[in-house]
This record gives sequence, structure tokens and C-alpha cells, in this order.
Amino acid sequence: MGLPDLYVRNGRLVTSAEVFAGGVLVAGGRIVEVVRGNPDRPAAETIDARGLLVLPGLVDPHVHFSEPGRGHWEGFATGSRAAAAGGVTTGVEMPLNASPPTINAEALAMKRAAARQSIVDHGLWGGLVTDNRADLADLHAGGVTAFKAFMCTGSFDFPRADDLVLADGMATIARLGSLVAVHAEDEEMTRRLTADLRAAGRRDCKAWGEARPVIAELSAIRSAIEMAERSGARLHVVHVSSAAGIDLISAAKRRGVPVTAETCPHYLVFSEGDLERLGPLAKCAPPLRAQQEVEALWERVLDGAVDIIASDHSPCLWEEKAAGDDDIFEAWGGISGLQSTLPAMLTEGVHRRGLPLAALVRMTATNPARIFGFAGRKGELAAGCDADIVIVDPDAETVLTADQLQYRNRHSVYVGSAMRGAVKRTLLRGLTIFCEGQIMPDVPPGRFLAGPGAELKTLEGPQSRWV
Ligand code: ZN
Repeated sequence: MGLPDLYVRNGRLVTSAEVFAGGVLVAGGRIVEVVRGNPDRPAAETIDARGLLVLPGLVDPHVHFSEPGRGHWEGFATGSRAAAAGGVTTGVEMPLNASPPTINAEALAMKRAAARQSIVDHGLWGGLVTDNRADLADLHAGGVTAFKAFMCTGSFDFPRADDLVLADGMATIARLGSLVAVHAEDEEMTRRLTADLRAAGRRDCKAWGEARPVIAELSAIRSAIEMAERSGARLHVVHVSSAAGIDLISAAKRRGVPVTAETCPHYLVFSEGDLERLGPLAKCAPPLRAQQEVEALWERVLDGAVDIIASDHSPCLWEEKAAGDDDIFEAWGGISGLQSTLPAMLTEGVHRRGLPLAALVRMTATNPARIFGFAGRKGELAAGCDADIVIVDPDAETVLTADQLQYRNRHSVYVGSAMRGAVKRTLLRGLTIFCEGQIMPDVPPGRFLAGPGAELKTLEGPQSRWV
């Protein structure tokens, strides 16, 4: 082997298991050696990470870039820049809010074309909806990472999977060897409560939370777990907002059900009071919860019961939020948070609550890489993995301003938040793509990470499934 391309040295390395003084040597876009201490090692380029943390790039399996069709809400170009600025080097993009939604092979081809604008590596979700049972195998062969279903009313032209569709879809997806993720809120409860509240003239922010109580989440999680248990499908529950929801998943794991749990930074940073304070900007589904629920959810994070922390980045035009100023039910429900996951979790988790750095790496990088099929390539600082690296100043104190956001629409519930911990530099496969507040010029496109069922002959263009 010739001279390594890069030596990131003299930092505090954070792996999924430990924190230690060291560095990484990079050649051909991969980590070739994890170095302990600070020995001199020859390399074409050296980055001195003195006083800084060196983490694996984040793997965020839950982002909505809404393209094709709603690229004016975000799109891959700006969405992936926000990812880079947030230390996220791999995103898996959701099948809904785009038009068409990714529910058949034709729509997946359109999605793949749009995704070529991404500057970070990416996988793509397929959708499980009412009427696409016959398309699931095609989506799988087309390289989707996994399948997403809504148990309650979805958005736009992404109809919910009722219990029959979900049970049937899980059986098919189990045969394919893939994974099903569910948005778990009970349709009957949320629909009736919403109708009753609106009939009573309620339009205030508090009504949004009352229309979608924790019990609606628990009912749907319980049902999805039962279906997974019977079908043998791997199940992932996205954006769990309650401690009791996590507990249902933990209990199922102990019975041997292959189920994993995700929560989002906004359920750990904000509470229902913030929805009243900030208005529609803080509207999401499930809704922000009471402060005691937030603290209980933190207990589950700290005791290792949460597998993944993902952004559920769900952007929109400002007008889609402003539409709810007089009637919260009219606002878009989604939070733009992709760029803030790492600083928010350093602030609220590591600094405020003593969350170990290795645990943060597990939930934001290693576990999502493992659960979604990128293990050995993404989500860890280890020889053989892609040199996806984020260099962080753990003590830098900043207040997030709108002009720092890379989003197409620069609004976020995090604007104005005091953060302790900042991303200094992000490297994708050894190449710096973000440094000191700036996206680097002429960053080449990221790679498509084909899912486990991909038939390589059907894939064109750069992709990185290693065979
Ligand atoms: Zn989502």
C-alpha cells in the first residue's frame, strides 16, 4: 500500500464502544487503520483534531426531501447540504411527501434520478400502501432499503395501510427478507378525536396534542408488534414519542420479536409548552408531549432502550406552517431538524444529562447502519469502513440562527436554541464536504446505497453495494 491519503490525528475518537485519544488513517475513501495515541504517521494530508471529538458520520434513516414533485419544500440538493452541515453522511429518504410517492418501480426510478443531486450517500425507502402489494417485490429488487407504512391517515397520495393491508404486507416483506417501519398512531382514535375537537370549535395548539394522545400511539404499536410477531417481519417503529411506547417495544424484544425503536430529537428537546409558545412551527405527529413524558423518554434513552435517534426531517414552505396560525389543524405537521440532531443531542444529552458519547454514536450511527443493512461500511470508526467522519467541538457554544440553515426553507423549531457542541468538519469517504460553516465547492454526488434485495443489473449509475 502506498502513502495513505489522509491522517486525522490527535483527536478524541468516539466509537460505538469507547472514547480514546487517537486518529484514523484513510486510503481510497476507507479507514485503513484506527490509531491509538498520537504517533507520527506519514500521509498525503493531515488534519489535526486537537481538542476535538472525532465521530463516525451520522446515519439518519428518517429524512423527507419531498422530491420529485415537492422539491420546493426541500429537495436532495439542499437537504443533503443540511445533512453535511449536521455531520450526517448517510440519509435514507422517505417514500412520502414526494409526488409521486415511492410506491412502485416507476416512482423509484424518478426518486433515484432526483437523488443524484445528493452530496451525501443515501438509501431510499419504498412505501407500503393500500394497493401496492404487487409492487413490493419490484421495489425490493430496485434496491429500496426498507418499507414504510402509515397506520393512521398519511399525507397526500400516500394512503394508510389498514390492519389487513399491513398484516398482508408484512407477510410479503418478511418473505423478501426486508423490514417494515410504521408510523404508529391509531386511525380510529385520532380521526374521532380530531373530528370531535374540530366540531367543538377547537383550533388552538393544545388541541393538536389532545387529538393525538399517547394511548393512540400505544394502541398502534401494540397492534404492529402483534402483526410482526405472527408474520416474522422485522419491524421498526419510527418516531416513538412516549416512554410507554418504548417499553412496549422493549417487552417485545425480550420475547424475541425482531422490533426496534426510534425516537427523534424534538421529542427529547421540546415539550407541549413549546407548541403553544412557537405555534405551528412545532407541530408534528405524534405531537410534542408533556415535560414529564420528555423526561421519561430520556430515561429510556439513557438506559439503552432506544435503538435509533433520527431527525424525521420533514420540511415545508413557510406558508404551510403559517396556514395554521389561526387553526393548528391546517398547518403542515413536520419539523425541520436534520442539521440540528448532533448539536441538540450533545447539548441536551451529553452535557445536560450525562449521555455517554459512545451511546450517542450507537443511536445516531452504528445502530441505524446495522438495522438498515449498512454495517461494515457505515456508522463506525473501524478499519474497512467508509471514512465518513465528523469532527466536533464539544464545547463550542452557539445560538442557531436561520442564516446558518442549509434548508431550502430556512425555518426550524431549533432557531434561537442555545447549543453546546458544534460540527466543525464533515468528511464523506475521506473527502471534506463541510468545514467551518461552509459546504465545500464542487462536492461530487453521493452514492446510492442499494438495499439487500437489489438486482445489480437493474441499477445504473454510481452505487456502492459491495459484492
Ligand atoms: Zn417522517
